[in-house]
Amino acid sequence: MYTMFSDTIAAVSTPYGKGGVALIRMSGDDALSIAEKFIFPKSKKSFSEIKSNFVFLADIKSPDGKILDEALVTIFRAPRSYTGENIVEISCHGGILLTQNILSAAFSAGAVQAGPGEFTRRAFSAGKLSLSEAESVIGMIDAKTNASLALARRGISGSLRKKTEQIYSDITSVIGNIYALIDFPDEDLEQMPRDEMYSAIDGIIKELESLKASYRTGHAVCEGIPTVICGKPNTGKSTILNMLAENERAIVTDIAGTTRDVISETVVCGNVLLRLSDTAGIRETADIVEKLGVERSKKEMENSELILAVFDTSRPFDSEDGKVLELIERAKQSGKTVLVILNKSDKNTVFGEELFGGFDTLSLSAKHDEKKTLADAIESRFISGDIENSDEEILTNARQYSAVCSCLSSVISAKNAISFLGDDIAGTELERAASAIAELDGREVSADVVDNIFHKFCVGK
Ligand code: GDP
Repeated sequence: MYTMFSDTIAAVSTPYGKGGVALIRMSGDDALSIAEKFIFPKSKKSFSEIKSNFVFLADIKSPDGKILDEALVTIFRAPRSYTGENIVEISCHGGILLTQNILSAAFSAGAVQAGPGEFTRRAFSAGKLSLSEAESVIGMIDAKTNASLALARRGISGSLRKKTEQIYSDITSVIGNIYALIDFPDEDLEQMPRDEMYSAIDGIIKELESLKASYRTGHAVCEGIPTVICGKPNTGKSTILNMLAENERAIVTDIAGTTRDVISETVVCGNVLLRLSDTAGIRETADIVEKLGVERSKKEMENSELILAVFDTSRPFDSEDGKVLELIERAKQSGKTVLVILNKSDKNTVFGEELFGGFDTLSLSAKHDEKKTLADAIESRFISGDIENSDEEILTNARQYSAVCSCLSSVISAKNAISFLGDDIAGTELERAASAIAELDGREVSADVVDNIFHKFCVGK
């Protein structure tokens, strides 16, 4: 855990700009004594007489005694506050200059500027919330879809924390048994029989595998799926990109090969986010500029998770299409999700899904905006179950996923070690597994990881 903080921090917690109200928040041991220097309750009561968690009206004054605003103020006393420290919150009029002046008054009285996410970081340090719950707070603020909001809400409610605590305690209980076996092999200690230990380990593996699998959904909803739209020129890639992005950012043209550069865009696609790249088309060409585009397209494909391969079904399938087919076959074998889009279905079509055995295909007309058809098809490949109404724990970011993967791999090694290598090696592997899962919730985590997470917050949260 971190050392407690000596400074009292202050920041404007509402966004920069004009608004009906703004919220200025202060947190720290000295928050109340600092507040008393520039906040004057209309009731004339001293701060020690004012109850926690009740709103009161007060004059906010500058260091030279001028009234800056009449505001509503609330005191939350430690440890019953968001950060676990004393907190004073000022709800004032939402003017840019006014909030800056009130903040300056707080600084003159002894507070210091809060860094990004510092309030939540203090809450984490005080054990008010786990690291995954803090990440859910960011998720709530950043949510672009109702699905990501639902996952963040579930994260804040602590379901993932409870699940990982359970796994941690299951692992440590097996560790205890293994070490008892090693240290006192002949004693009739009350311990799990070996069979029970095996089945406890199997149970842990099952839980971890289901958490691991949940990341496919959590990643698609919260982080976005790196996606490539590929196909030979003029098949309708830019039109599809525009349809998804709902604007005209990519160039749509009849001249083959004009989308020469890779364009990136994050779009909401039903319940998932796509991190899109439109590619120049996978076509061998002598044109140097076009070639650069083609090389980059191939690279983009390697870095993507979802490939939307677009074919123009109104023109005969030719060798260029064949080249694209070859590439997506390779991509599919390497585990990418490939969706073949049979575009221009509004025209007379000359080929169809019969050429794409083994692939998922979707026939559509991008010109007639079939975003929902495409969104449903993509969503069904990444989301299992009803996100908004289910209460299953879902991993929502790469950090959590990597902790679960390393925990799982250590538990599997421990299982093998028990059978073939010996209990002491199994014990070491299980300790590694316990550390990995403890990292997920921040029980054992480096300062760098924590810094990284809280820097994603805005100032004032
Ligand atoms: P790209 O080179 O693959 O990016 O192709 P574009 O998106 O630039 O489209 C090439 C041409 O095909 C444009 O004139 C589009 O309007 C047209 N197009 C795209 N999708 C459809 C479709 O579903 N139906 C029809 N009829 N035309 C389309």
